[in-house]
Amino acid sequence: MSGYDLIVAGAGIVGAACADEAAAAGLRVAIVEPGPIGGGATACAMGHLVAMDDDPAELALARLSLARWEAFADLPEAEFSRCGTLWVAENAAQAAGIAARVARIDASGGEAYALDARQLREVEPALAPDLCAGMLVPREAVVYPPRMAQHLVRRACARGAVLHHGRRVHRLDAHGVTLDDGSALHGPVLIATGCALSQLVPELPLRPRKGHLVITDRYPGTLHHQVLELGYADSAHGSDGSSVAFNVQPRPTGQLLVGSSREFDVDDATVSPPMLARMLQRAFRFLPALRELQAIRAWTGFRPATPDGRPYLGAVPGRGNLWVAAGHEGLGVTTAPGSAQLLLDLILGRTPAIDPAPYAPSRVLA
Ligand SMILES: Cc1cc2nc3c(=O)[nH]c(=O)nc-3n(C[C@H](O)[C@H](O)[C@H](O)COP(=O)(O)OP(=O)(O)OC[C@H]3O[C@@H](n4cnc5c(N)ncnc54)[C@H](O)[C@@H]3O)c2cc1C
Repeated sequence: MSGYDLIVAGAGIVGAACADEAAAAGLRVAIVEPGPIGGGATACAMGHLVAMDDDPAELALARLSLARWEAFADLPEAEFSRCGTLWVAENAAQAAGIAARVARIDASGGEAYALDARQLREVEPALAPDLCAGMLVPREAVVYPPRMAQHLVRRACARGAVLHHGRRVHRLDAHGVTLDDGSALHGPVLIATGCALSQLVPELPLRPRKGHLVITDRYPGTLHHQVLELGYADSAHGSDGSSVAFNVQPRPTGQLLVGSSREFDVDDATVSPPMLARMLQRAFRFLPALRELQAIRAWTGFRPATPDGRPYLGAVPGRGNLWVAAGHEGLGVTTAPGSAQLLLDLILGRTPAIDPAPYAPSRVLA
């Protein structure tokens, strides 16, 4: 039996960030991952680093995380591109909400600017001419998530972490875990298995939320910012069966990555033509030029969604030395570094960087 200070189950972007943070703190770390590093939801994501401002707790975690992402801005593996985020309004009601959003982002330490219709056309001429206002968040960026997860695991291993690759945590034991080859690892356990959380910690509710993405051929210069409709948060936070929202990203290659859809209660990972059509119709409404571009690939992924949309970060009540970092829904790439810091603050008994209460797993067990 091998003894560790922390056994991290799952090497998506969240587990990789936690393992890296733990190894940097001097802990003896084991990482267990059955598939490719970063090959789960992490490989399906857009990689947009974005602060959603409608939930103060979510904003605090995003702000902490975005500051930490800056350390990777020059790392080739991150493929970090500071394209900024442009939120666009399609009606007066959405435009009227922009001032409050700018104020919230400013108050959190971010930087945002309101744009009128003319300014919107100046910064993104390809957008539909009837869009009436926008909000520019210039310092936000996009990254390539699976390579980043691989980098973090490599760095953790360079600091002494042991990677059990191709192995799965089969069972939680009183003193650690048993892997699927029957071997036992001894030590505190951190579950970072994303959508597979329920297999090991069934008491924490989590639902996979399917999403579609489409990527085009290369059309450099068509779009300069990651552009989202201001109604995006309604789609992200709604608990309806299905929804779509306009969300398009210019990749550093010149390709456009087009999202997004959200569906509960679908476990089939195949691309659904009706859902794809619905998502693209929404995108054409905001970016008509997209109709003329060649799509080259479509895929799906599953976001790990908790009932309140916030991840579980902390100790699992009544389970001894068991910790969890899972349930990041559509923001796990953004919030992985802050999640890792908060988790390690809690594990090591340091003063937490942000209030951990909104993320405590105990909130769903009361
Ligand atoms: C379409 C789509 C677009 C997205 N766009 C963005 C975006 O632009 N920005 C953003 O911030 N977020 C985005 N997300 C969300 C983001 O992808 C997720 O929140 C994030 O990847 C979750 O990371 P994770 O490490 O928790 O899970 P995962 O990446 O799924 O990793 C979990 C890992 O656990 C492993 N595992 C499972 N069972 C076991 C076991 N028993 N033992 C050991 N290991 C196990 C799996 O093999 C997997 O590698 C998007 C998601 C989707 C689906």
